[in-house]
Amino acid sequence: MITKATSFLKGEWADAKLKVGHVVLFVAVVCISLIAISLWGVFNSLEYHLHDKEVEMSNLSKTLSSNIAATLTQADTVILGIQGQVEVEGTGAQTLERLGGILKNQQKSLPQVHGFFIYDEQGRWLFNSNGAIPYGVNNSDRDYFIYHREHVSSAPYIGPAIRSRSTNEWVITISRRLNHPDGSFAGVTLATIYLKYFLNLYEGIDMGGNGIINLTSSTGHIVVRKPFREIDIGTDISTGEVFALLTPGVSSGTATIRSFIDNAERVISFQRVNGYPLVVIAAFDRNEILADWRSESFASFLISSVLLLILSFLGYRLIRLMNQQLQLQKELQRSEANYIEANKALGQQALEDGLTGLPNRRKFDLFINTEINKVRRRPDDIALIMIDVDLFKKYNDQYGHVQGDECLKTVSAIISRNITREGDLAARYGGEKFAIVLLNTDYVGAFIIAERIRTELESCSIQHSESPAKVVTISVGIGALSGSRTDTPETLIDIADRALYIAKTSGRNRTVISNHLSDTPA
Ligand code: GH3
Ligand code: MG
Repeated sequence: MITKATSFLKGEWADAKLKVGHVVLFVAVVCISLIAISLWGVFNSLEYHLHDKEVEMSNLSKTLSSNIAATLTQADTVILGIQGQVEVEGTGAQTLERLGGILKNQQKSLPQVHGFFIYDEQGRWLFNSNGAIPYGVNNSDRDYFIYHREHVSSAPYIGPAIRSRSTNEWVITISRRLNHPDGSFAGVTLATIYLKYFLNLYEGIDMGGNGIINLTSSTGHIVVRKPFREIDIGTDISTGEVFALLTPGVSSGTATIRSFIDNAERVISFQRVNGYPLVVIAAFDRNEILADWRSESFASFLISSVLLLILSFLGYRLIRLMNQQLQLQKELQRSEANYIEANKALGQQALEDGLTGLPNRRKFDLFINTEINKVRRRPDDIALIMIDVDLFKKYNDQYGHVQGDECLKTVSAIISRNITREGDLAARYGGEKFAIVLLNTDYVGAFIIAERIRTELESCSIQHSESPAKVVTISVGIGALSGSRTDTPETLIDIADRALYIAKTSGRNRTVISNHLSDTPA
């Protein structure tokens, strides 16, 4: 029973430990997942930031490209008209005067236009929409002039930013070749566009601290760049990474590249300007994107850390609580086991005589009851030996109570030595009286054992000066039954008692057998 209870408790204990293990595992998995999700989020957010900026730059370059195309087209439409008129009507004073009136009006409606100009084949000024023609000025050295003189194409030409000779303003030029009726070079018609018009356009666009907007010619020469520096105008970036991507047939693209000019790494987007040999490049400094990402990641890292701390703390508290409960359970189980052990010991003590260690009267009563019941159901021999120490009162008086106890221990030891068969029971019946129940034993067998005990004690020669034998002796009464339905424990005890009485009254230190049937002691 105890073993079963203990193993049940052990099972519960193992279960509880398993549960704590599960909670530890759960908390660990949740914490690791949180860390993994945070890391994934942080790296994902970097990708997102970079991609987002690429899209933004791409949209910006497209918008700027359309805007620049529209700005140029407006001016180009005007010089295309001049080209048509001059080629048909020539550059006579009348034509120029009429054209001048029209061009001045058109210039008013085109805020980006700095001026309209006409030069002859020598580079001499024929018309200036901004007023009088400056004296002795010749534009045959200008880039656009040289280009048109050498190229028969009637397509517009966009030149690098220059300073106007009439107003000293920074301007961008869009020009067309003028031909004589025979197709020979007759000069150039030119529209100049304020550089500040583009710069104002770029001004409102937030490009961070180190972003750039670049308008370059398709040959790779900078037309205008934000932030504006005069020194950058005309710089050849055709050997840079953007132009490596701008292969013929490619009109737009995005990339992360290192700048040709300031060596900064940027997320760039480029877009050809539709209808003109120009390219718009919008670029955002990668470090600034990373800085944004870092500050965002730091905030998410802080939130995750706080969450992780709270989770770990709660997990730790839960596990500690479970461990405490487990410990309590363990203590409880230990107390329970101790209690069972103590109960067992108490049970044993309740059936054992403290002085001799023999079973006590209670145990004797239980035992004889059980055994008599058995022989009543299934008849069998059963014998009872009753032993009483002779003149023990006098022994006590003579040698003291302690010595008397020692004497009782010696008697019980002799009894125990002689009752070794399993199933038999020797008990202290009370005081200096002992009882032995012998199973499957008739009075003869009981007599032999009784005599063996009596003679053994006698031969121990425990001095007893008040006894006729001068040593401690015992008187023995034997009762025996063969088992019948009317038998009771009292029957057997009574028979044995009577035999003992006879042993006492007939001189002590002897064994007397009592016959149940005749009721006459032998
Ligand atoms: P008899 O031969 O007729 O049996 O005489 P007796 O003196 O043995 O019988 P009696 O009943 O007059 O005295 C029994 C004595 O046994 C009295 C009691 O003090 C003593 N006794 C009973 N139990 C113990 C015990 O546990 N220890 C000791 N030392 N003495 C005990
Ligand atoms: Mg006695």
